[in-house]
Amino acid sequence: MRAMVLAAPGSSLELRDVPVPRPGPGQVLVKVRACGVCRTDLHILDGELCGIRSPVIPGHEIVGIATEVGPEVHTIHAGDRIGIPWLGHTCGSCRHCRSGRENLCSAAQFTGCTQDGGYAEYAVADARFCFLLPKGFSDTELAPWLCAGLIGYRTLRMAGDARRVGIYGFGAAAHIVAQLARHEGREVFVYTKPGDVAAQAFARELGAVWAGDSDVRAPAELDAALLFAPVGSLVPKALADVGKGGTVVCGGIHMSDIPQFSYDLLWGERQIRSVANLTRRDGEEFIELARRIPVRTTVVPFALERANEALETLRNGRLTGAARCSKCPDDRDRRSHLALFPLAVRPRGEARCLERLRRIRCNRSPEMTGLALRPRGRYLLATLDAREAASHSFMQASRSDT
Ligand SMILES: [Zn+2]
Ligand SMILES: [Zn+2]
Repeated sequence: MRAMVLAAPGSSLELRDVPVPRPGPGQVLVKVRACGVCRTDLHILDGELCGIRSPVIPGHEIVGIATEVGPEVHTIHAGDRIGIPWLGHTCGSCRHCRSGRENLCSAAQFTGCTQDGGYAEYAVADARFCFLLPKGFSDTELAPWLCAGLIGYRTLRMAGDARRVGIYGFGAAAHIVAQLARHEGREVFVYTKPGDVAAQAFARELGAVWAGDSDVRAPAELDAALLFAPVGSLVPKALADVGKGGTVVCGGIHMSDIPQFSYDLLWGERQIRSVANLTRRDGEEFIELARRIPVRTTVVPFALERANEALETLRNGRLTGAARCSKCPDDRDRRSHLALFPLAVRPRGEARCLERLRRIRCNRSPEMTGLALRPRGRYLLATLDAREAASHSFMQASRSDT
């Protein structure tokens, strides 16, 4: 099978032909239909996490079809569409596992990090850690649920019953969390990179009551702050934004150093906490909630062999439909699409967005950029030039991945 392999941290992925893995006892073999590209993949490429296997096939937002189940698998059958998340295995017997906190298990295995993941045509997984996925959503649309959605959900739950929730950084997880929070009747305040007015407009379109630069105070005192941007200097800023008893939740797996700050910022029983990984219970709860809302994500598909390009696009914050490609993704070739995280989530504005795309498509120019949206089971392919793309707010809005 074809796989994009990380030979060692610090290098790019290499396209290799490797044997299709065999499912052992308790495992399932999955034909990969889509795999999301996550910021954690960048931390793996850069060697910023411990325990990364070498070589390894990255990818932990896997949507695929079970093609073969090993002995002792009873919950999944061949033909089921399942999701494989970041948490790949736990010991089941340590004090964390026994107390409902398997996300903290010291012997845990992680998909696409300590064991092979989904940047390949096939993957094997421990069946107990896979999720059955709901109908009514496309493969690529579901991929971001498997990490951005799950971690976002756990991050939001750490905020308890906070009514005014601040979201710092407006990328994959934030887009999904904004939908969950709005569904639960919370007020959402969004902070973006200073000056990213398009992202702020987009956040407001998604239902944020306020959106602005991350270095200004919000107009109201927050009950909780959710940090998705991997920027340590946002921690004291977020502490200043929350009121007494407020919580600052750091949702990322890696963050730059947190600068020194005055105790006054923590005083008043404010808390700072991190979110580590996920539990299977988080997954079950999130998928059921996301199905009911329903959470909508739109993704930019890249072919498997273009994984390096997809990762660099994410790294540079250029995630947009304007990622340059020589050939537009072809809907008929569903074997190996990587789903980049959501370009846009538009429960209400979708029709308008599509109309704009249609107009752009009619206006082709020699300098082509490919864009693919998959809003309702069909890709809409548009070609547009870079300047034109930049002039459209929905493109700019999706640029911010911090
Ligand atoms: Zn354990
Ligand atoms: Zn992830």
